[in-house]
Amino acid sequence: MVRYLDLPTRTRGVTVEDDNGFFNIYINSKLSVEMQKEALEHELRHIQRNDFATDVSLLAAELS
Ligand SMILES: [Zn+2]
Repeated sequence: MVRYLDLPTRTRGVTVEDDNGFFNIYINSKLSVEMQKEALEHELRHIQRNDFATDVSLLAAELS
């Protein structure tokens, strides 16, 4: 599930794992379309690499 939200300006994206083990990605809608695409790919890479299983701190917001 990907949502585009008005996040704080310095935040590019956030990925949150819900109680069912699904990942919800939030991308800052203030970014340009190109930056949104990059931020989304960045978040998807974390999920593919299973980064969140090894480092819970990665669940923190991605700052630009
Ligand atoms: Zn990251």
